[in-house]
Amino acid sequence: MIEVILKKGKEKAVLHRHPWVFSGAIEHVKGKPANGDIVRLTDAKGGFMAYGFYNDQSRVAIRLLEWDENIAVNDDWFRNKVAGAVAGRSELLADGKTNTCRLIFSEADYLPGLIVDKYADHLAVQVLTSGIENVMPVIIDELQRLLNPKSIFDKSDASSREHEGLQTQNIALTTSQPPENVLVRENNILYNINIAEGQKSGFYCDQRDNRKILAAHAKGKKVLDCFSYTGGFTLNALQNGAASVTSVDSSALAIETLKENIKLNNLDGAKHTAIQSDVNKQLRVFREQEEKFDIIVLDPPKYAPSRSALDRASRAYKDLNRLGMLLLNDGGLLATFSCSGAMDMETFKQVLAWAALDAGKQVQFIYQFCQPEDHPVRSSFPEGEYLKGLLCRVVSG
Ligand code: SAH
Repeated sequence: MIEVILKKGKEKAVLHRHPWVFSGAIEHVKGKPANGDIVRLTDAKGGFMAYGFYNDQSRVAIRLLEWDENIAVNDDWFRNKVAGAVAGRSELLADGKTNTCRLIFSEADYLPGLIVDKYADHLAVQVLTSGIENVMPVIIDELQRLLNPKSIFDKSDASSREHEGLQTQNIALTTSQPPENVLVRENNILYNINIAEGQKSGFYCDQRDNRKILAAHAKGKKVLDCFSYTGGFTLNALQNGAASVTSVDSSALAIETLKENIKLNNLDGAKHTAIQSDVNKQLRVFREQEEKFDIIVLDPPKYAPSRSALDRASRAYKDLNRLGMLLLNDGGLLATFSCSGAMDMETFKQVLAWAALDAGKQVQFIYQFCQPEDHPVRSSFPEGEYLKGLLCRVVSG
């Protein structure tokens, strides 16, 4: 196995079991590992530190896997990690109310660059590192052994694959293809999922708990669901007795699927309005029309893909939330989210405080939303914590 020697003084993160080694921390590579090969990382004196996937195309040159020198990172090692992750989701799926979740969440499940989502009897995978790409035959075999899925679809159309020098993929890995629409159940609400054409791997299952928590406030309320996608917050609010829900999303496919999902759940279409539009434009239209709501959900896409984008993103979050606050009836609720890993909860609260000042409103944070149990945060990898949100009560003055 090829050895990679760390620069003196760069040991701390590795010792603390952070799974990334940046290229700048490497002193020397003894030989020429291929991208995706497993290498042996040593300290400057040659002492063993960890095994990991090597890739010289990526800023993260080594993704660490195992810190015990005596444990071989072989097929069984990968099978164990897959089995451990799948077992960790069994309670979540046990009550039969939910049959869709994230089964494997990359570094958080000790498999850097592998995402596996379950959609009823079908799986969608994203392979984001060359190391995982190399071991995919073993991983697929183990997933088949454990779950016997009807299909496994590779949804690796993420731009992060390019950073690893990998081609984009969008193909079935099993002989059978997933159907155009897979019917799934989340907290007893039905959704049609288009794995091949939908966003990310098809569905945002990370908002499962938050949809339910928000819906508990929706009875009799006039709700606006911004960035609705296929209707996660909309359907939960309608099912919990919302007086009306307006959903806004720029994607035609998302809006079309959302309308189908309303029928699928026998919800009252007369209480629902779907608007295909840019949220920033639509909020201004509501303002001109003097339209107000009791509850507003703001669940935008990632505004800050990196730390360097944080200032700009903070301004965008502030502007969006200021508009949201202005459209609420007095005492209304704003459920606002950020899925930018670079934006931590404290910064997000500051952004909201800033938005409140600009809007001339007072804001109470009444609940903090986070990512659910199938998106764990590994204690040595805080970067995996990306989804956060605040439920705010907004009053004038
Ligand atoms: N709340 C959703 C997930 C939102 S994902 C759920 O519970 O499933 C973000 C959504 O924002 C996507 O559906 C995307 O189509 C939409 N989007 C991105 N930019 C937008 C914009 N400027 N205006 C309206 N929708 C936008």
